Amino acid sequence: MSKSNVYFTNLRTSPSRNLLTKMERLVKAAGIENIDFKKQFVAIKIHFGEPGNLAYLRPNYAARMANLLRSLGGKPFLTDSNTLYSGGRSNAVDHLKSAMENGYNPISAQCDIIIADGLKGTDYREIPIDGEYCKAPKIGAAIADADIILSMNHFKGHEQTGFGGALKNLGMGCASVGGKLELHSASQPIVIQKNCIGCNICVKHCAHDAIHLVDRKAEINYDRCVGCGQCVALCQYNAAVLGEDDTSERLNYKIAEYTKAVLKDKPNFHVSFIMNVSPECDCWNHNDAAIIPDLGIAASFDPVALDKACADLVTAAPVLQNNKITDHHSHDHHEGTDKFCLIHPNTEWKKGLEYAEKIGLGTQDYTLIQVD
Ligand code: SF4
Ligand code: SF4
Repeated sequence: MSKSNVYFTNLRTSPSRNLLTKMERLVKAAGIENIDFKKQFVAIKIHFGEPGNLAYLRPNYAARMANLLRSLGGKPFLTDSNTLYSGGRSNAVDHLKSAMENGYNPISAQCDIIIADGLKGTDYREIPIDGEYCKAPKIGAAIADADIILSMNHFKGHEQTGFGGALKNLGMGCASVGGKLELHSASQPIVIQKNCIGCNICVKHCAHDAIHLVDRKAEINYDRCVGCGQCVALCQYNAAVLGEDDTSERLNYKIAEYTKAVLKDKPNFHVSFIMNVSPECDCWNHNDAAIIPDLGIAASFDPVALDKACADLVTAAPVLQNNKITDHHSHDHHEGTDKFCLIHPNTEWKKGLEYAEKIGLGTQDYTLIQVD
């Protein structure tokens, strides 16, 4: 595979070039206009931020992107899928409320939001890819049905995958609730008996007749359970929960396979914002201090090259003071250190990128092109 181009702009501005203008210049320089957007539904995959987290991307960027896509003839919408865990985004009602709280409304974001996997995370399409780990990833229906995928990614650390960039936003973020279960768990869900109130909702909705009440407590028949995650999605009592988490290595492999399903046969383009590089995911209800200075915005048609370029830029950056890195490491760790391995030593982001490359998602070999 030949080298991919990754375009990068720093955060210096002037009265004639604010950050929104710079983002638009960047994506145009990267060739976004070569995609035929006319009358196409464009899923802008973004993370609206868990309430309390302030590191997520500002809606202003989404608004500028949506306006650009409309000017190119597209029909953009903002989207994300529901989460597996309880919190502010585990169903479409809460998710939309959280997005509104975080400033994503039709005025600020100039675009409507569709929660990709529906009210309770059960609205998905299985996209066959015959992967080594996932045969047919369960992708939120609105994303699966879109014609074009555009990811806007907040690049930061991640406690399970090392960092969160384009692949994480696409592979994990587009998975329906059941898909997220497949990604996270090496096994089927379990029922914590003491939390189960016997409400019977999981029993009614299990399509495989695999969960039943025994003495008013849910029990799973593992001979029948296919690990779809529906019961985890529906249980409001933290009783039906994930089984043991998968390893970081396998999780990154599965995320690559899910990304392959999301992008299958679709034009796609990706923009990552290396700003507020917090040590952990925006799914947390807080964002700890950034580990490096804000660097800039990068864009590419190749999500693997984009993630590798962003990771390399973070590696090359100096470490800031008073954050999760300096809590445990001397201040010697500066330029050239893999910051994500320092804060999440059990993660395997490099293997994830190698696997993504192996299954044809892109290349780690890139040319970084500066855009003013
Ligand atoms: S939905 Fe949860 S609380 Fe209700 S029966 Fe199932 S496991 Fe128990
Ligand atoms: S994971 Fe799916 S198949 Fe298994 S018990 Fe839950 S709802 Fe039923």
